[in-house]
Amino acid sequence: MAAFSSLTDRLSNAFKHLKSKGKLSESDIDGTIREIRRALLDADVALDVVRSFTGRVRERALGAEVSQALNPAQQVVKIVNEELTSILGQGVDRPLNFAKNPPTVIMLAGLQGAGKTTLAGKLGYWLKDAGHTPLLVAADLQRPNAVTQLQVVGERAGVPVFAPEKGVQSDGGDAVSAPGETTGDPVQVARDSIALAHTKLYDTVIIDTAGRLGVDEVLMKQARDIRDAVNPDEILFVIDAMIGQDAVQTARAFDEGVDFTGVVLSKLDGDARGGAALSVASVTGKPILFASTGEGLKDFEVFHPDRMASRILD
Ligand code: GDP
Repeated sequence: MAAFSSLTDRLSNAFKHLKSKGKLSESDIDGTIREIRRALLDADVALDVVRSFTGRVRERALGAEVSQALNPAQQVVKIVNEELTSILGQGVDRPLNFAKNPPTVIMLAGLQGAGKTTLAGKLGYWLKDAGHTPLLVAADLQRPNAVTQLQVVGERAGVPVFAPEKGVQSDGGDAVSAPGETTGDPVQVARDSIALAHTKLYDTVIIDTAGRLGVDEVLMKQARDIRDAVNPDEILFVIDAMIGQDAVQTARAFDEGVDFTGVVLSKLDGDARGGAALSVASVTGKPILFASTGEGLKDFEVFHPDRMASRILD
């Protein structure tokens, strides 16, 4: 993944100096830790996260038992790998949480431009491909174009879209109509979509919500109201991996605001330096479920913490 190539290069350089050494001194370890610290900071990992990460690696490296199988340099690489994996998701894959009784409700939250609408299409496409019957819901009524944009995405994915105004429902091949009154209230739209899912047997409901350029209390409350109205099985916080150091503050605000259940990193195909992934995962302790890697419907991956950690250390 492009986002991590520079970090990958820098870390492997940090380890290169170790490789020739048979036995590591404390100053060898400290030299390596300094290089790891610089590499992480240059990748836009938040300072606090860098500090605690390098602190743990240093402590473990100094205390590492003499191993038959690994030379000291390999041991340091192993420790860094384990710590990266642990930050990225406690070392285990966390699959999407499906409801015991359908529909499974997935709510998307994040700043405007984070990639929520694009992700709604990708998730819908992915779920449909896996045999599910998803419904996309346009509960972003803040931006005039948002509803139309979701309809375009839904059409491309072949997934029906539920939208509030009469005459703008897209059917993605299957007629969908809004029950009851036409309304511009996103909370009501979300509620109606669940009722529709029950009657039309959609097994997954993906709710796109409004996002502003900055964290916005009014919209955060709106997201909370939607959450409380539909009780989602997943609240996915979508974050643009390119936002670098701002990732921590944004993630904290959404964590407090809606208490999301998982993270989706978007735009990992761009020239983001990958640090946002480490920062957000570390600061919120919430798992990263998916990575978005482009504008196409298939530019989407289930996130595997261990694989990502090894990729960073390649
Ligand atoms: P929203 O405001 O959160 O709904 O964000 P959008 O889904 O509208 O995405 C904002 C812009 O980012 C659009 O131009 C998308 O095509 C683009 N975008 C979304 N996800 C990705 C991604 O993973 N990679 C790239 N390169 N662009 C993306």
